[in-house]
Amino acid sequence: MLVSTAGPLNLGAVARVMKNFALSRLYLVAPRCLPEDEQALRMAVHAVDILEQAVTVEDLRTALSGCERVLGTTARPRTVSDPFLVPRSGAEWLLTSTSDSEVAYVFGPEDRGLSNQELAMCHRFVQIPTADAYSSLNLAQAVAVCAYELFMYGVPAPLPVQPTQPTSDELEGFYEHLEKTLLHIGYLQEHTAARKLEKFRRLLNRAQPSAEEVALLRGILRQVNWASSDTMAD
Ligand code: SAH
Repeated sequence: MLVSTAGPLNLGAVARVMKNFALSRLYLVAPRCLPEDEQALRMAVHAVDILEQAVTVEDLRTALSGCERVLGTTARPRTVSDPFLVPRSGAEWLLTSTSDSEVAYVFGPEDRGLSNQELAMCHRFVQIPTADAYSSLNLAQAVAVCAYELFMYGVPAPLPVQPTQPTSDELEGFYEHLEKTLLHIGYLQEHTAARKLEKFRRLLNRAQPSAEEVALLRGILRQVNWASSDTMAD
């Protein structure tokens, strides 16, 4: 819901970003510009249908009738004592409503934001975190941040592809092979080998190589063995 929006460009930009994030029901409370305004239509681009279907009402109370959860937005704290939600938790609160009733997000006018009286009709409040120096976002950009979080809520996070971890046998086999090879090519000396190998172990533990990567390293060792002596065992 947009309360007393003054700028047609903002109105069009809100419609556009609503469509981007799969929202469609726009309520205009006592708007100071019309959804059929030329500039609004131009800014909406492929979301003209949202402007055409927007419902205009005279006051916020009428717009909110039947809404079970109402989320107000404000750029700066006023007399609201409830702690502010960030848009992500605001989305969670709105979308976890258990009944079939409506829920609403309310945005204020560009010049003054929501009045205390309007904020009093909201049940929870979202403040988009910003730099202290300038906390007021452009109306359509504030809607964009909130709409994005609504859209993302419930979209499962992609599972990271888990590479196969090397078994302890594979790792120990690699270290033995490494030691033998490095001794063979003269990189390690018998008396300092243990200490140096310890450093390689630390490096590999930090890198957490996959089984495939350990096999890759063994491939190098095999090639070094082959190149330096054809008698050296794997
Ligand atoms: N001049 C007003 C700001 C209005 S911006 C003021 O200082 O209060 C227009 C609307 O965008 C606000 O009413 C609110 O709905 C939204 N908005 C802008 N910045 C916001 C922020 N940081 N957090 C939450 N909503 C914000």
